Amino acid sequence: MSDSYREPTPAELRDLMVEADALQRRILDVHTRLGASPNPEARGVKFRLEDAAGLVRDVRGDLDATASDLARVRAVQDGSVCAVPWGVCPDHGNTLRGSGGRAWCTEPGCARKWTYDRLGSPCGEPLAVKVTDSFGDSFSACQGHALDAQKRLDGAVLTLLDTEGTA
Ligand SMILES: [Zn+2]
Ligand SMILES: [Zn+2]
Repeated sequence: MSDSYREPTPAELRDLMVEADALQRRILDVHTRLGASPNPEARGVKFRLEDAAGLVRDVRGDLDATASDLARVRAVQDGSVCAVPWGVCPDHGNTLRGSGGRAWCTEPGCARKWTYDRLGSPCGEPLAVKVTDSFGDSFSACQGHALDAQKRLDGAVLTLLDTEGTA
């Protein structure tokens, strides 16, 4: 581990998104201005620019998704959210399926789905419950992981955490 390492922040990624937005706008502006040219040959060269602007929109989407992933990873690191290394449905617990970088809840009637590999990612849901097992060991977990722990751990006791400021 090097002391000089500075981890990029979600804010840096959001800054890049602003630059991507600006780039996209400038490309579309050139596209519009070429389209208004009295010279048909100048109008004829604008055809790649709509695609180019679309590619920048995709780049922006990837930056956005990465910012969200990074925010979740960092929240898990600092202990302010549930750190169980796999995801659950906040309402139903251990009911997720995933494939191709997406995940969804398999509980009938549950419409929750996620555009990242939630099953294989640290949870990141708000801490809601203290789970104490039959040996007296305890950890804090989100609602979904507490549900799951109750099913798996014989004699586990759940206590609601004080979540200040929430109605
Ligand atoms: Zn669900
Ligand atoms: Zn959790």
